[in-house]
Amino acid sequence: MPLTQHQTKELGKLIDQRRNTLLAALQKDAARAREQPYAEHAGPAPDSGDESVATLIADLEQADLTRDLDEFRGLEAARARMKEGEYGICMDCGSDVVFERLKAFPAALRCVQCQEWHEKTYGGEPKPSL
Ligand SMILES: [Zn+2]
Repeated sequence: MPLTQHQTKELGKLIDQRRNTLLAALQKDAARAREQPYAEHAGPAPDSGDESVATLIADLEQADLTRDLDEFRGLEAARARMKEGEYGICMDCGSDVVFERLKAFPAALRCVQCQEWHEKTYGGEPKPSL
């Protein structure tokens, strides 16, 4: 079943909330990592523009915050897919990702079956192909 408009809206809200929470935490971490207040590039609002987010990500790449940053990137990608109308469609098999899965993990790229297959095949760490 494809997502209804109402479900997509609900998930969009969920993504925005999580993204803003994460962004605020990351901004704090970035400021701490650089040992100076984060004031010059970004205002207090999380939605102060793409440029400040890009600056933030550049700063964070130098800090050891990969896990939060990965989640943040996943949410950003989910927002982009939502705009394109591709949200909730499995990237591997093209079938609909169920609402319950998206609610638990809004950044999900795959349906449950493909995700299980992917984890079984690729595991945690990437393996060399040679
Ligand atoms: Zn799939």
